[in-house]
Amino acid sequence: MLKNSHSLNTKLVHAGEPDPRIEGAVSMPIFQSSTYEYGGERHYDDIRYIRLNNTPNHKAIQKKLAVIECAESALVTSSGMSAITTSLLTFLQQGDHLLAHNTLYGGTASFILEDLPRYGITCDLIDTTDSSDWITMLQPNTKVIYAETVTNPLLDVPELGAVVDFAKDNKLISMIDNTFASPVLFSPAELGFDLSLHSCTKYINGHSDIVAGAVIGGDDLIKKVTSRMNHLGGSLNPGACFLLHRAVKTLELRMIRQCENAGQIASFLENHPEIQNVKYPGLESSASHERAKKYLCGFGAMVSFEVAGGETRAKKFMDQLNLAIDAPSLGGLETLITRPALTSHSGMSPSEREKAGITDSLIRLSVGIELAEDLISDLDQALNKTTS
Ligand SMILES: *Cc1c(COP(=O)(O)O)cnc(C)c1O
Repeated sequence: MLKNSHSLNTKLVHAGEPDPRIEGAVSMPIFQSSTYEYGGERHYDDIRYIRLNNTPNHKAIQKKLAVIECAESALVTSSGMSAITTSLLTFLQQGDHLLAHNTLYGGTASFILEDLPRYGITCDLIDTTDSSDWITMLQPNTKVIYAETVTNPLLDVPELGAVVDFAKDNKLISMIDNTFASPVLFSPAELGFDLSLHSCTKYINGHSDIVAGAVIGGDDLIKKVTSRMNHLGGSLNPGACFLLHRAVKTLELRMIRQCENAGQIASFLENHPEIQNVKYPGLESSASHERAKKYLCGFGAMVSFEVAGGETRAKKFMDQLNLAIDAPSLGGLETLITRPALTSHSGMSPSEREKAGITDSLIRLSVGIELAEDLISDLDQALNKTTS
């Protein structure tokens, strides 16, 4: 029997596993059946069918995700965006208003600013690192406050406690995209957030081989999101549930190693004369360092920086790397490198990017599990081969 007092690694391995094991199988088998014999279910959401997110594969991985974030319930979804859009559409309706952080994941920002207004839902953007003017943005129809644990690509950490308090004081549903922190670094439910959202594509799966999402929170709220999801259709197929279930067991091992590597790389970069503007919440120079220490159990595995010599040098430097793969996305066990202006933030206009501090030469590194010394010597040789 699993106890609350068991460590995260123990929970990652044992929580949600079928009891008794199915035919004694140590690894959760894939239930590749779209529908199931009718068993007297009285409610639509209880009918056993893949789209209704209730096959044995869904139940096992959903239980595991809820336990590791110390929450009551979880729902897995076909993508991170599906987790985000379905959650927002569950708690917002025509005439409602939400407050959201001013630098959000690109897909989320586009959905909130371009799609939601088509349904009569409006938004004001706030700086989640400074709560002083939030109250002036509040409207009688404000229903939701939305933040991200660590922002992309400048890696700021909000005043997370203030977001929770503001939501409670004003009866708002608080939602947080916890993708960049992962359940290893932050448990939104423990601090008091209503819903934690994930792109499981990133750290939770960690092997760059599936796209998936999750919504984690209290029973009542997850039931509502599940009903909405059952209509909107963003369910995860059992094969992807299986891969996610297999991968999440090593989440803490991977995350700790990736954070350690990122810390070493951030120090190397900060001390290198050819590197500028290193962003990593673990550095004392980071504007978010104190908040990261206060709220997170580690500083994450993303590092952003600029090389002296601007965009031309950035491109040449990246071409010289042998280990980091030039690709968008993040959180996998292989190190990836990208320029957000060309990938994650290419949907913004150059002036919007400039305002947000995302220059054309900004480089974002998603640090993997390779040996830190190997990654650092690769960065070093690429810097030495190029000049500003
Ligand atoms: C990738 C990402 C998403 C979207 O997830 P998908 O799985 O690609 O749909 C949402 N939020 C953050 C912070 C992300 O990094």
